[in-house]
Amino acid sequence: MIIYKTEEEIDIMREAALVVSRTLGKVAEEIGPGVTPRFLDTMAEEYIRSQKAIPGFLGLYGCPSTLLISVNEQVVHGLPTDRPFQEGDVVSVDCGAILDGFYGDHAYTFEIGEVAPEVKKLLEVTKECLYLGIEQCTTANRLEDIGWAIQTHAEKHGYGVVRDLVGHGLGRALHEDPQVPNYGRRGRGKKIQNGLTIAIEPMINMGTEKVEQLDDNWTIVTQDGLPSAHFEHDVAVVDGKPVILSTFDFIEEALAKKKK
Ligand code: MG
Ligand code: MG
Repeated sequence: MIIYKTEEEIDIMREAALVVSRTLGKVAEEIGPGVTPRFLDTMAEEYIRSQKAIPGFLGLYGCPSTLLISVNEQVVHGLPTDRPFQEGDVVSVDCGAILDGFYGDHAYTFEIGEVAPEVKKLLEVTKECLYLGIEQCTTANRLEDIGWAIQTHAEKHGYGVVRDLVGHGLGRALHEDPQVPNYGRRGRGKKIQNGLTIAIEPMINMGTEKVEQLDDNWTIVTQDGLPSAHFEHDVAVVDGKPVILSTFDFIEEALAKKKK
C-alpha cells in the first residue's frame, strides 16, 4: 500500500533528506586517495548524531554501518573496510538518516583522483538517468515511466541496468511501497499521485546488468567485474510535479573547493 504524505510530512522529509545531503557534503570534503571507508563511516555517524538525527541504516536489517560504500565493481551495499581508496577508484556512498520519524536516503558516486574517461562517462550518464527519471514524476504519468526514462538513456550508451535492486517508497520506513525499478514500459504501472514520496536510484553497470552478492551477505558486485555507478535522490510529488527533497549542492560545492 502506498502511503501518500501531507505537505507537512513532506516538509519534515525534506529536513531528513537534507541531513543526508549535508553528511554527503562532509564525505565529499574528506574522500580521496588513502582515505578509508571506515574513517568516512565514523565521521558520518558523528555528524548525523550532531544534527539530532539517527543513522538510518545502522542496525536496520542487521546493517553494521552508517554508510554503505561500494568501490568500482561493487554496485551497492558495500560495507566500510579499512582498505584505503586508490587513485582511479569510483566510490558510491549511500547514506540514510532518520529525523523526526522520517527517513532521508540518498547516494552519490565519487571519483578518486583521476578516473578513466570511460568510467567518468558512466558516472555522468548515470546521474543524467537519475534526473531523467525524476522528470517523469508528474501526475500525468505512471510509475513505470520513471524506469522507462532511466533504462532508455542507459541502454542508449550500451550500459546494463541492474534489475535485482530498485528504488522505493520512502517515509516513516526506509522501504515503503511502491517499488521503483530502473527499467519499465512507457505508460505502465500505477498513476503517479500528489503526496507520493520515493527514492529514485539508478544503478547502472558499464557491462552486464547481472549482479551477484559476496559472501559477506551484503556487497552486491557486477558479474563481469566491470564498474558500476549509483546516484539517488528523494523526490516528492507536489502540485502535480516532482520536488527533489535532497540536494547534491553540498557535495558539488565541496568538490569544487578541493579542485582550486
Ligand atoms: Mg540509498
Ligand atoms: Mg534507497
